Amino acid sequence: MATALDPEIVDYLKMFNCSSCEELYSKLEKIQLEQKLVEGEHVPFSLHDIKHFSTSDRRVDIICDVTFYWGAYKAAELIKDLRKNPPNKSFENPVVHQCSSVIEYRAMNTMISDVDLPGSKYNPVGQGYYSDLFFHMFFGNYSDFIEHIKKLSEEDLKKTLKTREGYPQFSPLFAPIIGRRMIHIENNDILTKKNKEDIRMMYHGNNENKQVKILEKLLKLGADPNAHEILGNTPLFYASHFQYDDAEKVVSTLLRYGANPNHCCQFMSILYRMCTFIASYPQHWRIIDLMLSYNAKPRDYEEAMNIRYLMETKYPLEYAVKLREACPKQKNECERTVCKVSTVKMCKACRSVVYCTPACQKLDWKFHKPTCKKKREEKASENRA
Ligand SMILES: [Zn+2]
Ligand SMILES: [Zn+2]
Repeated sequence: MATALDPEIVDYLKMFNCSSCEELYSKLEKIQLEQKLVEGEHVPFSLHDIKHFSTSDRRVDIICDVTFYWGAYKAAELIKDLRKNPPNKSFENPVVHQCSSVIEYRAMNTMISDVDLPGSKYNPVGQGYYSDLFFHMFFGNYSDFIEHIKKLSEEDLKKTLKTREGYPQFSPLFAPIIGRRMIHIENNDILTKKNKEDIRMMYHGNNENKQVKILEKLLKLGADPNAHEILGNTPLFYASHFQYDDAEKVVSTLLRYGANPNHCCQFMSILYRMCTFIASYPQHWRIIDLMLSYNAKPRDYEEAMNIRYLMETKYPLEYAVKLREACPKQKNECERTVCKVSTVKMCKACRSVVYCTPACQKLDWKFHKPTCKKKREEKASENRA
């Protein structure tokens, strides 16, 4: 009897328009052969790995690689199309392209910031149909940027701040945020030496790299920090998962000017997406702290439980505690994350959470202890007041 395929693999079959694992595998091999996306002649996993995905210990690597291959497959098609039909400019939020699964959404995210702008893996020199102003902002050329906007009438400036460009329909704020990758192009390990040479040939000017200054100026002039691109993602979404030294500064600037930390992306909150990225970018803890200080929350109960579980099993206790506070359980549900029992038996110390049994309370004490102490202190100071 044939074993049922994993939902992730079913999603991939749909995305690659294939009807069997064999067909999918040969498509991946063809992409690898043509584009040499990873080291070696063949894809770095076997057909057996795909067919027995759920029991493979390489699940995470396979997901990364297949997502990467899909990006290349999709980008190649899209770039050809965009050459013939360059995207129009618009002045409002685009209709959101709804993805059919989380897997497709994640893959689209990777592909979209990498399809028609310089510094892309699939298209290193970009498409060139973006405006001069967009490129000034992208490369951080503050002097050119200021000179350009000084010439505009008040009305034209308003219109400029609303302009959407490129396939993803980026508003001006996206330009300096994504353009920061150009400063670090030499350290980019996804681009080959040849890619980097091509990029340098095309953009040899002395760029000022003042993307952060441009970002702040745009916000001061009134650019909407919550304008989104075709996947519904905002500038904060992009800024929060880049791994540059000044990522924290960019995120705090956006938040200060009113970026919504709870803007709903498809399938997940910015907070959850960041939590799933932490293992690769530990410096993002500071950004998570910042987001929490602006009241960032999970989008729903299910996501809240996923965040709690992830933090408790993989990350430092300090963050498990902080994120549990941002991800409360439902009323009258046992405080231990994995327990779903309904109860009214309170923690006698703080009387702010409930436990179904002493056993659950004991197992959960490590995580609840710091919050319990904080709650007791809060109540004591309320009583004194
Ligand atoms: Zn329980
Ligand atoms: Zn307590």
